[in-house]
Amino acid sequence: MSITENVARVRAQIEEAALRAGRDPKEVLLVAATKMNDAARVREAIEAGVDVCGENRVQEMLEKHAQGAYEGVPLHFIGHLQKNKVRQVVGLASLIHGVDSLALLEAISREAEKRSLRQDVLLEVNIGGEASKSGFAPEEIPAALEAAAGFGGIFVRGLMAIPPICASPDENRPFFLAMRKLFVDNGRKKYDNVSMDFLSMGMSGDFTEAVACGAGMVRVGTAIFGARNYSK
Ligand SMILES: *Cc1c(COP(=O)(O)O)cnc(C)c1O
Repeated sequence: MSITENVARVRAQIEEAALRAGRDPKEVLLVAATKMNDAARVREAIEAGVDVCGENRVQEMLEKHAQGAYEGVPLHFIGHLQKNKVRQVVGLASLIHGVDSLALLEAISREAEKRSLRQDVLLEVNIGGEASKSGFAPEEIPAALEAAAGFGGIFVRGLMAIPPICASPDENRPFFLAMRKLFVDNGRKKYDNVSMDFLSMGMSGDFTEAVACGAGMVRVGTAIFGARNYSK
């Protein structure tokens, strides 16, 4: 299957899952997880109609950006961002998905203020409570949103999660539903520098389930580009 055919299929699956859940399919943004795919392949995905490109590694993003890989769609950073790389990502990525600590939030804010801009971010939630994963615990989210008021260089636009690796997509359902609840509950309260617009969850193996549970952004790599070759 070509990238173009894959994008069409993923789109159709998103649409079907959204309609079945009584949602407007247009509420769901398809973020192509482009890691390890070169500029030409990224271009093909954009031409096939993905809404956003999401990149994981800073160096790879800079190289592909210089090649014009992402022209025509917003660029998001979806990987784990180290504090010493904040400078290279702020302002280039229109949204940073995985902000997993107040220290990182502060570093992003400081860098953005230095450049008189405001960086949109999502807070990452460790929804499975996994020791191996970073992110805020669900119960830490209200305090994190409160803290956002003190950071003049950021704007929190929602939440992101990567649930535990499960044997089947429906095992992820409780995690997706918990994220949905966290998103809605925390969206009710007004915080400065916060607007709960986006819930980023769902990947190749489980994006239809995520859409059914309320995802506003799905991050899809393998189902668009095929399996990644880590040996290269
Ligand atoms: C790679 C990646 C994805 C996409 O994963 P696939 O299973 O290939 O769809 C989504 N989110 C993040 C954060 C990723 O690193």
